[in-house]
Amino acid sequence: RAHLDRIAAVDGDVHAFLHVNEHALDVAADIDRRRAAGEHLSAVAGVPLAIKDVLVTTDMPSTSGSKILEGYMSPYDATVVARARAAGLVPLGKTNMDEFAMGSSTEHSAFGPTRNPWDLERIPGGSGGGSAAAVAAFEAPLALGSDTGGSIRQPAHVTGTVGLKPTYGGVSRYGAIALASSLDQVGPVARTVLDSALLHDVIGGHDPHDATSLTDLWPSFAEAAREGARGDVLKGLRVGVISELPDDGFQSGVSASFRSALATMEAHGAEIVEVSAPHFEYGVAAYYLILPAEASSNLAKFDSVRFGLRVEVPGGTVEDVMAATRERGFGDEVKRRIILGTYALSAGYYDAYYGSAQKVRTLIQQDFDAAFAHVDVIATPSAPTTAFRLGEKIDDPMQMYLNDVTTIPANLAGVPGISIPSGLAEEDGLPVGIQFLAPAREDARLYRVAAALE
Ligand code: GLN
Repeated sequence: RAHLDRIAAVDGDVHAFLHVNEHALDVAADIDRRRAAGEHLSAVAGVPLAIKDVLVTTDMPSTSGSKILEGYMSPYDATVVARARAAGLVPLGKTNMDEFAMGSSTEHSAFGPTRNPWDLERIPGGSGGGSAAAVAAFEAPLALGSDTGGSIRQPAHVTGTVGLKPTYGGVSRYGAIALASSLDQVGPVARTVLDSALLHDVIGGHDPHDATSLTDLWPSFAEAAREGARGDVLKGLRVGVISELPDDGFQSGVSASFRSALATMEAHGAEIVEVSAPHFEYGVAAYYLILPAEASSNLAKFDSVRFGLRVEVPGGTVEDVMAATRERGFGDEVKRRIILGTYALSAGYYDAYYGSAQKVRTLIQQDFDAAFAHVDVIATPSAPTTAFRLGEKIDDPMQMYLNDVTTIPANLAGVPGISIPSGLAEEDGLPVGIQFLAPAREDARLYRVAAALE
């Protein structure tokens, strides 16, 4: 009730939600009844959960921020949503996002932007700006996001929240409307490291419905976070700092906050080690070939026949209807990437573009392997700047793309990454995050280290 009241009070300004669940109180009441009857419920039973609209749900529309899916009702729940329901989390609503998760500001949503609760004239990050803003504005204690190039971590950075991208394959993608299948991961957004871990424990683990789901048995992330919070985790921890990340690419308050977080870690016994990752700087370029290529094929299914919008063309052919529907249903950024992707995949260009990008991807993976031979985690600023103003980068795709320079390499390599708050930038008083990266399958290490620093 408190969260619904809070949504009613502030969401007119913030616009974190595309849909609020009108049955939330009934679900909560049912959990109360089960608890009163002595049923043993999970640690998160009864906790409200905001759900990024990229995740399909049977009881609320799922649009992925696009007009082409306006009003679309899924016949099934995404695995993460089904698991959340089974654990007693109360779906509070669906959150706003850049259309099909393409963007860093949530300004590419077909349903209007979300605003940053810290300053309503600024962006909440993207593509999962709605989930991060909902958590930052106290509209929801927990949220689900998806991260293909930074869409959980960069919004966490600009809203002072915690966001984690799991190891690729660690959390099911079944029912997450695909952007780029080899990069997409679903993950938690929260206000504390422990909250994030509790949600991750619920949604993670093998899912036979996702062909890339790992069959590993995962440790308890909540236990890892608790260990981190009470233990001496930082003592002797080797923290890698990438020598090729130029200091001048970052806003001064972001760099200052990063250096001060490193100093705190050092004061608690961590060892800061320079590592070389020479191909990191090509991450954005490789990503903007691989992502559009995969996205252009994933979005081919929105053909006016199978899902959502259909624009009728009197006397027109099937192709006319398809073209008119995609013309009206997709926004500019989506069209830009479909064009980029189909071009990169076209005969004669495939090796030069997609093939080269895949080779760069391998080199970045090798950079990580080499670095993790010397360090336990790598630390970077989570993004180059604090929250920028709405409209500031909307007409400059390159500027928008460069927001993800530190987050994209983790998606290309499949390794986990977390962003946690590391203070406020001196010059504008806005939140700044620090990112930690660990080897694949070491998500628990991230929870331990992040909880120790928190
Ligand atoms: N900002 C990046 C992009 O526009 C990341 C998106 C994401 O992680 N979904 O592609």
